[in-house]
Amino acid sequence: MTPQEERIADRLAYLKRKAPRCAGLFERVFRGKVSKSQAVKATCLDCCCYSANEVKLCVSVTCPLWRVRPFQGKARLVKRPTDSTGINLLRRWRGVRIAGT
Ligand code: SF4
Repeated sequence: MTPQEERIADRLAYLKRKAPRCAGLFERVFRGKVSKSQAVKATCLDCCCYSANEVKLCVSVTCPLWRVRPFQGKARLVKRPTDSTGINLLRRWRGVRIAGT
């Protein structure tokens, strides 16, 4: 096994323990079997400790990948709560648009 292969194997073993949901993506990335957008996704996940939500909330606007980072999606549309406490909680929750507002 070459030193490069050893590093990749170590990294994959780490990912399988710490971020099993990302391990498959990284395995394909290391084999070179991914599109550029999947490579960007892996880079952003790597940058944000494998948290999709942190990638979504990334504020590093000077990063060359910022505009094309994954997980931006559309603002989530949730059913309007009937009480004001629920509405206030949702307003504080970033990325949520309240239906009817
Ligand atoms: S866009 Fe944000 S999450 Fe993605 S690599 Fe750049 S700084 Fe990291």
